[in-house]
Amino acid sequence: MYVVFVSNIGGVYFFKKRGIVLYLDENYGLAVIGAGHAGIESALIAAKLGVKTVIFTMSMDFIGNCPCNPSIGGTAKGHLVREIDALGGEMAKTADKCCIQARVLNKGKGPAVHSLRMQIDRHKYAQKMKQKIEQQNYLDVKQAEIVCVLKDKNFYILKTKHGLSFKVKSVILATGTYLEGKVFIGQTCYNSGPDGTFPSMFLKKSLEEIGVKFRRFKTGTPARALKSSLDFSKMQIQLGDKDAELFSFCNLKNNVKNLSVCYITWTNEKTKDVILKNVLKSIFYTRENKAIGPRYCPSIEDKVIRFPKRKRHQIFVEPCGIKTDEMYLQGLSSSLPEDIQIEFLRTISGFENISLTRPAYAIEYDCINPICLDSTLEFSNCTGLFFAGQITGSSGYEEAAAQGIVAGINAALRVLGKPLLILKRESSYIGTLINDMTTKGVSEPYRMMTSRAEHRLILRQDNADERLIPIAKKLGLISDKRWENFLENLELKNKQMKKLKNTILSPNKEVNKKLESIGSAKINTGIKLSELLKRPEINYRTLIDLDFLNSNLPEFLCRKIEIQIKYEGYIKKQLANIKKTKKNSFRKLPKTLNYKNITGLKLEAQEKLLNSKPENIGEAAKISGVGPADIAILHVWLAKHQKQSKIL
Ligand SMILES: Cc1cc2nc3c(=O)[nH]c(=O)nc-3n(C[C@H](O)[C@H](O)[C@H](O)COP(=O)(O)OP(=O)(O)OC[C@H]3O[C@@H](n4cnc5c(N)ncnc54)[C@H](O)[C@@H]3O)c2cc1C
Repeated sequence: MYVVFVSNIGGVYFFKKRGIVLYLDENYGLAVIGAGHAGIESALIAAKLGVKTVIFTMSMDFIGNCPCNPSIGGTAKGHLVREIDALGGEMAKTADKCCIQARVLNKGKGPAVHSLRMQIDRHKYAQKMKQKIEQQNYLDVKQAEIVCVLKDKNFYILKTKHGLSFKVKSVILATGTYLEGKVFIGQTCYNSGPDGTFPSMFLKKSLEEIGVKFRRFKTGTPARALKSSLDFSKMQIQLGDKDAELFSFCNLKNNVKNLSVCYITWTNEKTKDVILKNVLKSIFYTRENKAIGPRYCPSIEDKVIRFPKRKRHQIFVEPCGIKTDEMYLQGLSSSLPEDIQIEFLRTISGFENISLTRPAYAIEYDCINPICLDSTLEFSNCTGLFFAGQITGSSGYEEAAAQGIVAGINAALRVLGKPLLILKRESSYIGTLINDMTTKGVSEPYRMMTSRAEHRLILRQDNADERLIPIAKKLGLISDKRWENFLENLELKNKQMKKLKNTILSPNKEVNKKLESIGSAKINTGIKLSELLKRPEINYRTLIDLDFLNSNLPEFLCRKIEIQIKYEGYIKKQLANIKKTKKNSFRKLPKTLNYKNITGLKLEAQEKLLNSKPENIGEAAKISGVGPADIAILHVWLAKHQKQSKIL
């Protein structure tokens, strides 16, 4: 069949085939399919690296949409947001602009697990992200459904539903929960994306033709209710933290504004009865389930079934924004029929007259097993093809954005012909997430948790800038002004650390009177301020209040200094461990070893180790289901048996 070249206007080729004008745009180096949390970070960072980029979305009105909880951050997720910020990403800055309440979780525990969580105005967040995308140089945004991706030698051809074609060097797939999306409410199910958007029903076939394999995951979200229909007098109020920091390192001198509150209530025995009586009305309890759901965000019916002895489950009632009266019912995701949802909700204290604005639903979608990706998030079989976000098997805005920024950097570096970026486990939560997913694969939606990071004491929220800003600088991802700002803060911090280590407090009446006044032990000999700061009852602020220290440093630097001094010993030990782990990863494991005989290993780890018979510790650590704790037990076993074999 004859294709006639018609014209080329500014890199857009027009061809005539059977009288139909074909449009082929060759202006872009990179195409990003998806403008969700992953695609946004990918497109912005690639454009910042000077690569002409086009980003596609099914709907311009759902760019940066938060289809689930109206919040950013939380345990381990807060760490990811800080790290994205240090790499020059956007999520932190936008969350700060849309924050309506902020809290630091796990404050009662060590600083390694302190995690910032922000309630955000989800409409404002999406609107700000849309604006950011529209205003970014080197970036064009298009509402177009991509229906196929073809490999053409060193290029990819993308086709839209309306018949346009784009020829690019690199592609990022960030289609989230849209690919073959199917929504379930009771026995009702229909093809759909989240929040009533169109699903992506054509793209999968062409991806399978270039070797991508898919499987089915699912997730769910709770109902939203009208504020006026809830009785908050029957709930516990949850306020924001006055001293919570903002997310972006560029905003740490500013204070959080807590503009709204959340509420807490609980389910009860009646709720449980209604759910148990009707659970078979959820399609996931009547048909053989192919789709795998998130272990750590279970539906309320899953919780009632999985924890039969538990009398009640905690519910957080969260505002979806300032200019909306919709409330998000955290902890109540469900796929039961809407009438049953209303029935069990009305058993909950404060929900007696509840009026739903949107029912809870579950959504199934296609995703890949990330074991087919390199630790650059490039598809191992196809150079230039990258994946990021929910399509890789992860779950959560933060996990998606973290992958998005790395995929964006690497797809751009691929177009520029430069070496790609690999973030090591010991550098960041992002590095840990990608290493976990691409070396172990995932058997259910992957949610980041602090327990996944064996190096968590050095991967804290407060030092993400020191760990990643130098990498961002080297790649040209941050401005010179930001770099100078970072160096200035680093110098201020190091100078003050030195001062604390070199200032000796001498034992005198006045000093000891002050120490006694705060219930701290008297000193008999001179003591360094840094040693004094290690006392549990003393923190950085105390040293200032007792006039032992003169300091007008901003709060965030005081916090950094306090953590680095108080945990100095543990941090040193963890750094030494990293060195040792690297060295020990080559320790051999006997092929004939019966892991069932090693006490303390998780059941899942015993099974997986027996199946794969790893050569050495390093290989064992790569097996999905074998965690840092299991590796530690193997080290103990090896040490004991090597000693015994020496004796024998
Ligand atoms: C119902 C529901 C419940 C959830 N519950 C939780 C939870 O409890 N906990 C949790 O951590 N996370 C939850 N999430 C997940 C969270 O929303 C996602 O992790 C996050 O949105 C993923 O971001 P993403 O960028 O990968 O994809 P998304 O935000 O889904 O964005 C995908 C983008 O791809 C575009 N797109 C798709 N196909 C095409 C195509 N063919 N052509 C052009 N554009 C296309 C879409 O328009 C959209 O812009 C839930 C999501 C949903 C939908």
